[in-house]
Amino acid sequence: MGKKRILSGIRPTGRLHLGNYVGALQNWVKLQEEYQCFYMVADWHALTSDYENTSDIKSNIDAMYLDWLAAGLDPDQSVLFIQSKVKQHAELFLLLSMFAPLPWLERCPTYKEALQQITDKDLRTYGFLGYPILQAADILIYKADAVPVGEDQLPHLELTREIARKVNFLYEKVFVEPKEILSTVPKLLGTDGRKMSKSYENCIYLSDNEKTVNEKTREMVTDPARVKRTDKGHPEVCSVFDYQKVFTPDRIQEIADGCRQATLGCVDCKKTLAKSLNALLDPMRKRREEILAKPDYIQDVIREGNKRAAIEAEKTMVEARRILKMVE
Ligand code: SF4
Repeated sequence: MGKKRILSGIRPTGRLHLGNYVGALQNWVKLQEEYQCFYMVADWHALTSDYENTSDIKSNIDAMYLDWLAAGLDPDQSVLFIQSKVKQHAELFLLLSMFAPLPWLERCPTYKEALQQITDKDLRTYGFLGYPILQAADILIYKADAVPVGEDQLPHLELTREIARKVNFLYEKVFVEPKEILSTVPKLLGTDGRKMSKSYENCIYLSDNEKTVNEKTREMVTDPARVKRTDKGHPEVCSVFDYQKVFTPDRIQEIADGCRQATLGCVDCKKTLAKSLNALLDPMRKRREEILAKPDYIQDVIREGNKRAAIEAEKTMVEARRILKMVE
């Protein structure tokens, strides 16, 4: 028996930050041991909401691949590919669209939420409504056994299973119904205590050097009630403490006690955090240098990943075309 398969993807947002790392990448690296992983840059998904300006996509993809490889994704173990370079995704998306009743899409909580909350873009497009079908195609085309997801993506995975069941029932059992691997990831806020976002300039990036990490950590917001060093703190309201929980877990009790009793000052607390972050990022920095020393390496990885993904995707499409009686 070979390894079970996983498919996961991320939109090409460019340099990855610590939120991307703890939210996905760290888990992706671990999953490589146990599963055959297909990791994709979801560039067509980026278009579903950001169709007005695509000028950064190419450079964002290169930056993301560099972060992936530096963080430990191994192109010999995992298939690292770009969605739009495997055209079979578009073909399966089209075919699956025929099977998905509109109410299945309209009832997706993420769709309803996005329409309400995102007001600076016109998301009432066919592409945006249909993106869960594109996701279904991404997953089903590799016959993924499982998909790492956050709670908010569960309805999409259920939709994928419903579409797979419908095709399997009406024609022949070709598609695998994927299970979820639920990740309970702590959500990291930005260094200013707001949502972590590039546009707020409140992110610590995997590619930041030691000096930048130290500076950004020094400027992080803390418990606002702790004005003087002698004031007792409340770690539960402090963003630095949220980071410590993730990045300095073995000293968390000591930090919490020190903060509450005012025996630990914020300056020292932040130095501890910066040290933990730099310890995490140092091996990535080293790998990044090694990768950059080989000028063609990233493009070779992309090309090879696209090729391997297309071979697997085509195998499924041959079956899908056959059962649907599409002329070869
Ligand atoms: S000591 Fe640490 S946890 Fe406490 S308020 Fe200062 S930065 Fe936050």
